Amino acid sequence: MTNRINVIGGGLAGTEAAWQIAQAGIPVTLYEMRPVMTSPAHHSEELAELVCSNSFGAMASDRAAGLLHTELRRLNSIIIGKADEHAVPAGGALAVDRAIFSKELTQTLANHPLIELCREEITAIPREGVTVLTTGPLTSEALAADLQQFTGMEYCSFFDAASPIIVGESINSEIAFLASRYDKGEAAYLNCPMNKEQYLAFREALCEAEQAEVKDFERENAKFFEGCLPIEELAQRGEDTMCYGPLKPVGLSDRRYPERDRPYAVVQLRQEDKAGQLWNMVGFQTNLRWGEQKRVFRLIPGLENAEFVRMGVMHRNTFINSPQLLNATLQFKNRHTLLAAGQLVGTEGYTAAAAGGWLAGTNAARLVQGLEPVTLPSTMMMGALIEFITSASPKHFQPMPPNFGIIPPLEKRIRNKRERYGVYRDRALGDLEQWLTEIKHQRVVQTVS
Ligand SMILES: Cc1cc2nc3c(=O)[nH]c(=O)nc-3n(C[C@H](O)[C@H](O)[C@H](O)COP(=O)(O)OP(=O)(O)OC[C@H]3O[C@@H](n4cnc5c(N)ncnc54)[C@H](O)[C@@H]3O)c2cc1C
Repeated sequence: MTNRINVIGGGLAGTEAAWQIAQAGIPVTLYEMRPVMTSPAHHSEELAELVCSNSFGAMASDRAAGLLHTELRRLNSIIIGKADEHAVPAGGALAVDRAIFSKELTQTLANHPLIELCREEITAIPREGVTVLTTGPLTSEALAADLQQFTGMEYCSFFDAASPIIVGESINSEIAFLASRYDKGEAAYLNCPMNKEQYLAFREALCEAEQAEVKDFERENAKFFEGCLPIEELAQRGEDTMCYGPLKPVGLSDRRYPERDRPYAVVQLRQEDKAGQLWNMVGFQTNLRWGEQKRVFRLIPGLENAEFVRMGVMHRNTFINSPQLLNATLQFKNRHTLLAAGQLVGTEGYTAAAAGGWLAGTNAARLVQGLEPVTLPSTMMMGALIEFITSASPKHFQPMPPNFGIIPPLEKRIRNKRERYGVYRDRALGDLEQWLTEIKHQRVVQTVS
C-alpha cells in the first residue's frame, strides 16, 4: 500500500486533515476542485474559504465554541492557529480577516514539502490507499453520486430540513408533560399543550414572522422538498392545518391533571441524545429567520424560556448518515482506509469541521504508520461531537453544532449554568491532558505546551 494519503476537499476540514497528516511526516495529496470547478457558495480559489460569516463563534472557554477553540489550540490546529493570528475585533467572538486567513492557509499548505495541492474535481472515491473525504455541504454532483452508491441510497442526504433543538432543562416541566400518543410504548415525547386562544395567537405570529432568504441555488431543492413542508407554510394553508399535522392533539392527555380538557393542539418534542438533555421539536422544519424562530417558538406554552442549541433550517446540505456508517475514529465501518470529516459527516460549523479534520487526519496518518486509530474522550467538546454524530439515532439523524447538551452530565448536578459550564470546561481540558499523556509515546499527535 502506498503511504501517500489522499484528502479530497480543501475546505475547513480538509485543510486541517492534510496539515495534521503532513505534520506526522506522511506525504499527502490535497484535492480541491476550485477554481477548475466552483461551488454555488464559494467565491475564491483559496483553501478553507469561509463561505458566509467570518466568525468562529464565542471565544470564552466556558462557551461551547470557545471550548472547542481551546481544545484545538492545544492540539496545534492550523485552522485555529491562523484564526488567532488574523483575528479582528468582534466583541466576545473569534472572527478573522477572511481574505488573509484563507490566503495564508493556502500558501502554508502549498509550501509544505509533504503536501501536494492538486486543483482537480474528484468524481469517484479512490479505491486504493488511505483517503479522507472532506467535500462539505456542497460536494460536487459526480462525487455525491458515487458516495451515494458506496453508502447506499438511504444513507445520503442532500437537503437539510431540520427542526430546532432545545436544551431540556430550559423547558418548563410544570407545563410540558411526558407521554406517547395513546400511551403506546414508553412515554417518549415531551408535550406542550395549547388551548384554542394560545394556538390561534401562535399561528398568527407564525404566519407573520419573517422568513430567511432562500439562495438561488437552493430554490430548486426547496421545491423538490414539497414532502417536508416548513411549519410556517402549514400555518398559512389554513387555520387548523397544523392541528391535523404536527400539532395533532389526539391521544395525548396530561396524566398529572386528569380533570383538564383535551388540549386544542400539542407541540411534541422528541429526545435527541441518549442522556435526554436535548429535545427536537417534531415537524418544525422551518425557513424563518433565527431571531424570529426564537421569538415565535417561545410563545408555545412550556417553551417561554427555551434555550436553542440548533435553529431550524431548510437548505442544501450533503451529509451522510454517520451513526450508521462511521466509527468514532471517523473511519467508515465497511472500509477502514476511508475516513470522512466536516459538514459531510453531520457536524455543523467552521470550528466543528476543523475538529473533525484534525481527528480524521490524525487517524489517517496513524493507519499509514501502523498505529491504532484513536478516539477522543467524550467529556471533551471534540469528543462529544464525534460521539454524537456516530452514535445518534440513525432514523432521525440531523447535523449537530458544538453545544453543552451533548456533553455527559456531571455526577453531581450544578444548577448554575455558567458555573456548570466552567466545570465542564475544566473536566474537558483535564481529560485532554491525560489523554495526551497516554498516547505521548506515539509520534502522531503534535501539541503545543
Ligand atoms: C451557504 C452556506 C453558508 C454557511 N454559513 C456558515 C457560517 O456562517 N458559519 C459556519 O460556521 N458555517 C457555515 N456554513 C456551514 C459551512 O459550510 C461549514 O461550517 C464549513 O465550511 C464546513 O467545512 P467543510 O470542510 O466540511 O466544507 P467546505 O468548507 O465547504 O469545504 C469543502 C471543499 O471541498 C471542495 N469540493 C467539493 N466537492 C469536491 C470534489 N468532488 N473534488 C474536489 N473538491 C471538492 C469544495 O470546493 C470545498 O472547498 C455554511 C454553509 C453554506 C452552504
